[in-house]
Amino acid sequence: MKLLVELYIVVHMLMGAPLDVLVDARHPLPLWFDPGPHSDAVSALEDLISEAGDAGIKAIVYSGYRSYSKQGSAVEREWRERPSTAGFYVAEPGYSEHQLGTAFDLVWPGLQVEFSDPRNEQLYIWLEENAHHFGFVLSYPYKEIEGWPYNNRWMPQVTEFIHEPWHIRYVGISLAEEIFAAGYLDPQNSVLPQDYYQPWAGISP
Ligand SMILES: [Zn+2]
Repeated sequence: MKLLVELYIVVHMLMGAPLDVLVDARHPLPLWFDPGPHSDAVSALEDLISEAGDAGIKAIVYSGYRSYSKQGSAVEREWRERPSTAGFYVAEPGYSEHQLGTAFDLVWPGLQVEFSDPRNEQLYIWLEENAHHFGFVLSYPYKEIEGWPYNNRWMPQVTEFIHEPWHIRYVGISLAEEIFAAGYLDPQNSVLPQDYYQPWAGISP
């Protein structure tokens, strides 16, 4: 059995997780899962950034692959530096899509992940309109909930996720197009990318 477990781990480290594996508050990734940046995701990201550049939109990776342990230090730093919002933006280790190697936070060069700067805003609008062509979705789109006077800009309780327009995840072009076509970016539409993902199948040693 031990050998099987080791083999399973090696295969997953080499191949990465399936592109549609679900990572949310109830579906963590195993501690040992440490695949590094996903090569297809990285090359799709390079294409995306270059095409954005052609449209006059500048983007750099603010945060990319984070291992389980790096996520732990990110959480600690966030609590130290921004205690009022830390719990909203930085997931606990195991609960971040950044551990997949397919998720990236993009910003305009020189800026932080934030809403207020018009340059970031331009970038985020461009991502909404174009990311799916490159196989990316925005994991945490803006949502308004009917009968509820809030949206998820500051209120994570509306959906599980607070709005993060900078966070994109590579799921491959066909799935990204499918999720886009379902209207997931419409604030009134309750569809989320997570509806299309599958929990990690198999053992989690
Ligand atoms: Zn992110």
